[in-house]
Amino acid sequence: MLSVKEAQEKIIAADVKRKTAEIPILESCGRILAEDVFSGDFIPAYDNSAVDGFAVRSVDILGADKNYPVKLRLLREDIPAGTISGVTLDSGVTVQIMTGALVPQGCDCVVMREDALKEGRDVLIFRECRQGENVRFKGEDIKKGDRVLHEGKKIYPADIGVMASIGVSRALVYRPPLVGILPTGNELIDISEQLKAAKVRDSNSYSLSALLAELNIPYRMYGIVQDDRELIKKMIASSLAECDILLLTGGVSVGDYDYVKEILDEIGAEFIFWRVNQRPGKPMAFLTCKNRFIFGLPGNPVSVMVCFDLYVRPLIKKIMCDPELFRKKTFARAIEEYAHIEGRTDFVRVKLEQGQGQIYFRLTGMQGSGILTSMVEADGLAVFPEDRGTIEKDSEVEVYILKETG
Ligand code: AMP
Ligand code: MG
Repeated sequence: MLSVKEAQEKIIAADVKRKTAEIPILESCGRILAEDVFSGDFIPAYDNSAVDGFAVRSVDILGADKNYPVKLRLLREDIPAGTISGVTLDSGVTVQIMTGALVPQGCDCVVMREDALKEGRDVLIFRECRQGENVRFKGEDIKKGDRVLHEGKKIYPADIGVMASIGVSRALVYRPPLVGILPTGNELIDISEQLKAAKVRDSNSYSLSALLAELNIPYRMYGIVQDDRELIKKMIASSLAECDILLLTGGVSVGDYDYVKEILDEIGAEFIFWRVNQRPGKPMAFLTCKNRFIFGLPGNPVSVMVCFDLYVRPLIKKIMCDPELFRKKTFARAIEEYAHIEGRTDFVRVKLEQGQGQIYFRLTGMQGSGILTSMVEADGLAVFPEDRGTIEKDSEVEVYILKETG
């Protein structure tokens, strides 16, 4: 049986075919750019004022201060943003100018309104101004031909703003895979149905969909499939025709009705691994079939979510060229002693607490793979590694952070 590390290495080594898609920039947040982005413009495109104030020639106001203001003649017109004025500043003259407005000919700096006082047709300037002060120069941010964003960069809101500023409305990104969700099991009923003996509502379809939605990954829910060999086979084939990754849940252990493993064999899917030395989530399978990937996830609701984070998420991220394959990790100390049997990796649902400049963890309570509320309570997933026995009080382990607050 593979260790968690070996299984994750197989995911990381999977031979993925990346595709790109050109999408509106507003849909591109969090995606990875698949090409460099160059600017066809200078930004700003013209010298403009950084403040509301008075356009001046710096030599005219040399030595100006509070006690010895310099008097300049004010032109009748002013220069609002968005217009091209015909003004040329002669010596001893000033003109009122607004933020973002094109600076007039002859002006080499702008005095802030707070440092001046209008007095009839004149303006008193109370402060010297360096050449270029309060002027934003053409191309000072971006020059025409500059590479403003590079291939492989994750797109954040600021990148979207930059693309908008240079007139780029669409971005070429690595395309996320389409993920199909196929729950199997005779005991499953839809969430709209009344619970009755021997039945379980299909929560896996929803927790998986939510995990995908959190990553902004498109998905299809195919609905419950009964434990019927032909039916499952048909559904796998038809969903694989549409999806890049198929997530099956249930039926991959070795119970009598666990057809899924056999069916996957029959349809010619190639097992990359089956079973990982971990709890929860041991009976899981990872396969490839004609450039697509299939995860046979265990049916247990906690196992499904844990296996998603450990194996499905990194594959998706890899396909999207996103180097942040896993959830962020932190180290945390055990608030008390916890039992653990050496020889297997356990993923334990924990609450995180701050104390004395350290992060501590405590278990969320019952840890059975069917206790989905243990995930609800959890801030993180602590890793009790296979080479360690009892986790001593105050000893450190790694914790995958599940929620931002903790
Ligand atoms: P299995 O892997 O099929 O043996 O299922 C293991 C456990 O997970 C059983 O208790 C199932 O009832 C439960 N289970 C399987 N599929 C789902 C599902 N889609 N939603 C919630 N629980 C499930
Ligand atoms: Mg089952």
